Amino acid sequence: MAKKIKKIIVDRDLCIGAASCVVITPELFELDDENKAVILLKDGKKEQHKADRSEIAATNLDDETILLSAQSCPVKAIILEDEDGNVIFP
Ligand code: SF4
Repeated sequence: MAKKIKKIIVDRDLCIGAASCVVITPELFELDDENKAVILLKDGKKEQHKADRSEIAATNLDDETILLSAQSCPVKAIILEDEDGNVIFP
């Protein structure tokens, strides 16, 4: 992976609540009431769609682990972007 992960996005329409992402990175994702993945933020809030790397609660999480989590999603509902807004994954 050339560029660093800057944005983490969950496509709620795609997410089927399979929870693979939650299993791999429970410090980053959680399932909400609708069984959709949400992103855990530093301030204790939960983001349904898009979070900047600087906002996430899991400050120590490395790029490889985030990528692994995104890759584990069976419907590719987790989208990763670099600082230029380019899609790193999928
Ligand atoms: S792995 Fe994908 S489908 Fe499953 S909860 Fe996470 S984002 Fe949703």
